[in-house]
Amino acid sequence: HETIAGYDNELAQAMADEARRQEDHVELIASENYASPRVMEAQGSVLTNKYAEGYPGKRYYGGCEFVDIAEKLAIERLKQLFDATYANVQPHSGSQANQAVYLALLNPGDTILGMSLAHGGHLTHGAKVNVSGKLFNAIQYGVNENGLVDYDEVERLALEHKPKMIVAGFSAYSQVMDWARFRAIADKVGAYLFVDMAHVAGLIAAGVYPSPLPHAHVVTSTTHKTLRGPRGGIIVAKDAGEEIEKKLQSIVFPGIQGGPLMHVIAAKALAFKEALEPAFKTYQEQVVKNAKAMAKTLMERGYKIVSGGTENHLMLVDLIGRDVTGKDAEEALGKAHITVNKNAVPNDPRKPFVTSGLRVGTPAITTRGYQEADVVELTHWICDVLDAPNDDAVIAKVREKVTAQCHKFPVYG
Ligand code: PLP
Repeated sequence: HETIAGYDNELAQAMADEARRQEDHVELIASENYASPRVMEAQGSVLTNKYAEGYPGKRYYGGCEFVDIAEKLAIERLKQLFDATYANVQPHSGSQANQAVYLALLNPGDTILGMSLAHGGHLTHGAKVNVSGKLFNAIQYGVNENGLVDYDEVERLALEHKPKMIVAGFSAYSQVMDWARFRAIADKVGAYLFVDMAHVAGLIAAGVYPSPLPHAHVVTSTTHKTLRGPRGGIIVAKDAGEEIEKKLQSIVFPGIQGGPLMHVIAAKALAFKEALEPAFKTYQEQVVKNAKAMAKTLMERGYKIVSGGTENHLMLVDLIGRDVTGKDAEEALGKAHITVNKNAVPNDPRKPFVTSGLRVGTPAITTRGYQEADVVELTHWICDVLDAPNDDAVIAKVREKVTAQCHKFPVYG
């Protein structure tokens, strides 16, 4: 058995460099996390070799008796985690889970109402460049001048456009979404309510953010963000009824996917087991405490946070009116070994590739063991860089402090 290093040094070097980057840089991208070694063990296992088209007990291939066990474990744990009555663990990604929901319940040309990308929604919620915006008549809602979802506006748009589905959920929104209000609006116009909880799934599983399951007809998520599992997607629902469940099952397979990734499904099963542990609740509580500490420090240093703070794991730093753009800020912080992503803020005057904002989140640093005091320290360094993004001496000094802090909190040891 040759190792990668003995066979492909070019790739081995890139992988080793990435491993070192993950240890030495502070990760503030809100959608990232560090999967446990157990999750990675499952994902790198022989289960990758198995074809298992179909569902447990009803496969189109022989030899599925053991992968059936893995998939059943994943399904049962996922149901328990979110108090769901339906679970599908086969979507290869969050985007594919969302595509499945649209294609299961809608026809091309139907109207959907989702949050715009520019105001915190995801590409798959009806953006023009995404198939959700090409295949369907996508109407988009956003946030008001205070950075909060404008439910009256959502209701007005729903009454005007009569969507067949309302999409709630977000990639860049730091407040609690009122799932019940969304459902009330959906019921008023006879629409399905579909919630994409990808960003906050871990918080929801731990009970530190309200669950959409009692309100939505169907819910999707990724498994690799706050949920801290392998890269992938899921669909869950509570009391959706046999008709909807049947449509969801058959659209995932054979509708849009072929063979499920059984190694990833095994890794999902493990991640869900980890998420059912009491330690996962403590972790998610700390994620939110850390995010609040970061938002408070940023605001004390004069930086504006969209919506005025955070109730979850992320926040948007609003750089409108400042000389530093989102792109500049991302680059300057990158030089200091602090990884963030530039992000448009509501009513951003700059282009999407430049932007006037940064999205930052605490799931990854909290996995490393950061507590509030560490976060406050780090946030001051971030502000030092944002205050002087062209000052190489400041950046070098911050990089030194960031490296020392990272070494205090090894990811994989
Ligand atoms: N939904 C939301 C809310 C997201 O933030 C994302 C990822 O950024 C996705 C879906 C898409 O997930 P994936 O990248 O696995 O396709």
